[in-house]
Amino acid sequence: MKKHKIFDVFLFVASIIVGLSFAPIEVDVKKFLIVVSIYLVFSAIYSNLRISQGNGTGSFDYGVSYSQSFALFAGPFGLLIYEIIYRFTIYFQRKVAKTADEDEFTDTLYNIGSFTLYNTVGFIFFIVLYPYFQMIPFGYSILFFFTALIIMLQANALLLFSLYLSGNLHSWNEVVLFIKNRSILDIGKVALTNGLLYYFVMENQWEMLIILFTLNYIVSRSFVSKQESVKNELERDRFREMAYTDFMTGLSNRAMMDKQMGEINGTGELLGIVVADIDKFKRINDNYNHSVGDCVIQHFGGMLKSRTSDEDLVFRSGGEEFTLFLRGRGYEECVELLESLRLNVSDHPVEVEFNGEETSISYSASFGLYFNKMTEDLPMERAYNYADQLLFEAKELGRDRLVVRNGQQSLVYS
Ligand code: GH3
Ligand code: MG
Ligand code: MG
Repeated sequence: MKKHKIFDVFLFVASIIVGLSFAPIEVDVKKFLIVVSIYLVFSAIYSNLRISQGNGTGSFDYGVSYSQSFALFAGPFGLLIYEIIYRFTIYFQRKVAKTADEDEFTDTLYNIGSFTLYNTVGFIFFIVLYPYFQMIPFGYSILFFFTALIIMLQANALLLFSLYLSGNLHSWNEVVLFIKNRSILDIGKVALTNGLLYYFVMENQWEMLIILFTLNYIVSRSFVSKQESVKNELERDRFREMAYTDFMTGLSNRAMMDKQMGEINGTGELLGIVVADIDKFKRINDNYNHSVGDCVIQHFGGMLKSRTSDEDLVFRSGGEEFTLFLRGRGYEECVELLESLRLNVSDHPVEVEFNGEETSISYSASFGLYFNKMTEDLPMERAYNYADQLLFEAKELGRDRLVVRNGQQSLVYS
């Protein structure tokens, strides 16, 4: 049996011994049963929220624990009985629903043992100090807070020890992170809840007791659903980004290009649409290999991105073909920019590793620029086809060319 499981069994046995040493229960049996039933119902509902730690072990319960008030009401032996009933109810509930973890049984023993033990310490702490705190204003609440704090400290220490035994703690950093995650607000929440619960139980205020449990559940439920919706939104954003990104170059992909075309369509924006394509790229793939080819594509894409502004849009629209939407520039400026891009490509070979050696590969690219106002009379689709046609002309004219067209008039730069 693994070390951490032996520890779980040890805690359980220890809690039985400690619990029995406080026997028998000194409260009326009927009242005990009423309190057990109410606590059980709400604890079971609450445990469905499964607010867990998310460190891989997942099965320790983390919500507000009501055990502190139960221990004060019924003593450690009463708490032991309650914990056994409650934890095994959850255990069987999960078994039936087939949501039980592999270690569910020993985790159940751990929960019974640990909750009984540290709430017993809390119980003794409270009983011993109560006469002193009774004398100061808010003494009752302050003592509840400190009791909750003591319980929380023990809970953390035990949990860290158990995580360590099960090999789930690897560094001090993880310990610090774990402690940071437990906030003083949580302790306050536990203390206030248990303080009120204990008061209502002692005063037989059953209606108030149920209202408090309900309030606690609603607040936690709404917190969990908010957290979930934020998480879902983040995930949706990440998937959306993935769907619109070309992994090889990190640039936007064709899908993003189609989306942007739809958005610009008919707005009347002055736009320079550029289709750029690496010349004789097949030769690079053939003379070297595919991964050298990939490096050239990345180099070309990176250069296009770095030499355009944030306002401009750069897409990898095909294998070694890129599309640019140049924005906020006049026609002359677009031509000037593209000429400098074209010359830059042929002046700067790519350094790649090929057959274990640094090799520099020269390449060139051809560009087609179509510049116009994207009015309703000129659908983006058509403007894009014009730019593609201009690229084709650049290829026909011998490559390493820029062919441009502003409205009707076209020009060639080589
Ligand atoms: P042109 O000057 O007319 O553009 O000739 P080209 O050889 O560049 O053009 P062509 O379209 O005939 O060939 C493009 C090649 O690019 C074909 C394809 O195998 C290759 N290719 C497409 N995507 C990738 C990629 O992601 N990585 C690599 N290494 N090659 C790719
Ligand atoms: Mg090509
Ligand atoms: Mg091509």
